[in-house]
Amino acid sequence: MANATSESFAFKTEIQELLHLIVHTLYTHQEIFLRELLSNATDALSKVQFESLTNPDLYDKDQPLEIEIEIDNKLKMLTITDTGVGMTRDQLIQQIGTIAHSGTKKFLNEIKNMKDASAPDLIGQFGVGFYSVFMVADYVTLETRSMETDAAAVRWESDGSGSYTLSTSERRRRGTSITLKLKKEFEEFLEESRIKQLINQYSNYLPFPVLLGKERVNQPEALWRKPKADISEDEYNEFYKQITNDYQDPIFVEDIASEAPVQFRALLYVPPRAPVEFAGDEAEHGVKLYAKRVFIQDHCKQLLPRFLRFMRGMVDSEDIPLNVSREMIQNDRNILKINKVITKKVIDALKKLGETDEEAYLKVWGQHGRFIKEGVHSEAELRDKLLPLLRYTTTKSERKPNATLEGYVSRMNDTQKAIYYAVGDSVDQLMRSPQLEYFQKHDIEVILATDPLDDLVFTQLPPFQEKRFINVESGDLDLPKSDDEKADDASLSDSLKQLKDKVRSVLQEQVNEVRFGHHLEKAPCRFYNASGGMSHAVKKMVFQMDGLSIPMKRDLELNPNHPLILALAENKDGEDQEKRIRLLFHLAHLAEGQVFEPQELAELITPYLS
Ligand code: ADP
Repeated sequence: MANATSESFAFKTEIQELLHLIVHTLYTHQEIFLRELLSNATDALSKVQFESLTNPDLYDKDQPLEIEIEIDNKLKMLTITDTGVGMTRDQLIQQIGTIAHSGTKKFLNEIKNMKDASAPDLIGQFGVGFYSVFMVADYVTLETRSMETDAAAVRWESDGSGSYTLSTSERRRRGTSITLKLKKEFEEFLEESRIKQLINQYSNYLPFPVLLGKERVNQPEALWRKPKADISEDEYNEFYKQITNDYQDPIFVEDIASEAPVQFRALLYVPPRAPVEFAGDEAEHGVKLYAKRVFIQDHCKQLLPRFLRFMRGMVDSEDIPLNVSREMIQNDRNILKINKVITKKVIDALKKLGETDEEAYLKVWGQHGRFIKEGVHSEAELRDKLLPLLRYTTTKSERKPNATLEGYVSRMNDTQKAIYYAVGDSVDQLMRSPQLEYFQKHDIEVILATDPLDDLVFTQLPPFQEKRFINVESGDLDLPKSDDEKADDASLSDSLKQLKDKVRSVLQEQVNEVRFGHHLEKAPCRFYNASGGMSHAVKKMVFQMDGLSIPMKRDLELNPNHPLILALAENKDGEDQEKRIRLLFHLAHLAEGQVFEPQELAELITPYLS
């Protein structure tokens, strides 16, 4: 308690307001007082560290730079001691007695402007600095000895109501001790495990030792404070596991150190597995934000674009205020700049990985490829940078999903005008599809897309190196015409012409258009897309998403050279011909790996088995 030579001071009005709010309005996140005190202590230590570089006359120069936490269970007191710059009496009055911090000022205004007292969440967002101690303590003593050689130690005491007292202190060591006499309901902060947990959560990577008793409880050194060259792969991996609780190593880490336009360090990881996303429930963004080594926020959405939400890691910046609020994060220009820089670096790094380590890149692609496709679909501005990251299985990639668009175009011959792709359920199914017959025969590479999202992306992509994307089921394939094709329908035999009309009338419920085409070899028929709109696979996906029944009407192409078709054209026997025409429609489905009305199919084939 204050001694005989103590002097009493009233708090300035603004502090009184702040204290009132802290004690009466804010009733969650009380634990952040520890983060605030440790962060102040860290600042004080950083200042000494800097000063000692140039000033030989520093008080207590050889004092180790550290923070100590002491628990006194008998007296219910918690003490946080640092060996930082300390404060002179004048500084104490000046600095502790005013609200210097702009974040705190803003906090005060925000909270004053709120109509109701629904401010509990704000404190976690703003932080209120030193005065947050009065959330958990009903009496606080601060003793401090400045680094200035001729300064006297001072003692500051307050119960957080209207005033504080100053007196002389016996303290000899440089730095500051803050002792909290905890309120009854906050005696949890006398438990070592609780303190350790809070340090682990908020302050694990402070750059000075935090000692509890004699034990160091924070990380020996913030990993990202080390120069890149001094960090081993194991250390990168350990850090990843610590921040994600993953037990496997990441596939890849990108370590970014930037000085301009914003000073920051970022460690960004590609995890070994994609995050789980349930329908309509997106995975949380995985990047933590630190300001000046102090933890600010988990899952910071503003640091990376949405499609990169599978990445994990952290960003620490000197250029972000410590008490930055959520709203401020959203609009902070420096965070926007960091987002731009790291997005570009991550994409570049992935591109480079794709060029230098195919095996590792294909792991990334296998797990997270759909996020990258999502990016191509949703981020028009980044599209060109993302295209080199795409990988596909093609008819020439030997079943490995390792073909790039660039590689595809480089393998094209001079007459090929477009990039061709086929969409189906599996590579095996596609390789046997009649849709590919023409392309296989003419040695034209086809991308084998097994994800309907691929189709959606291709449909929307502008030409790549001036080559359009064309689905092989498209009615207009933009292929050089053979002599056969140049001769139009007029050259068909009468019986073939009649067959076409017959097919149209027999299948009028199931088929929009019927044509003879020249893209088939072994197969008698296939489906094509006459209107040129959405492909069948995309239609299926879109209708399913909207809970609608899938439109089944298709366009049917017949092979005018196929013996089955020729025989069918000659077979004028009404009923049998009709049945065979219906079988053709089933056949086109089977070739797609689908079954259309299985019972009708069973009835139609039974006679042929007896
Ligand atoms: P902020 O840290 O956001 O500026 P605070 O209310 O927490 O606001 O602290 C006000 C000032 O008091 C600090 O800027 C600093 O100058 C001084 N201060 C607080 N804690 C310490 C400490 N442990 N050692 C030295 N100075 C301190």
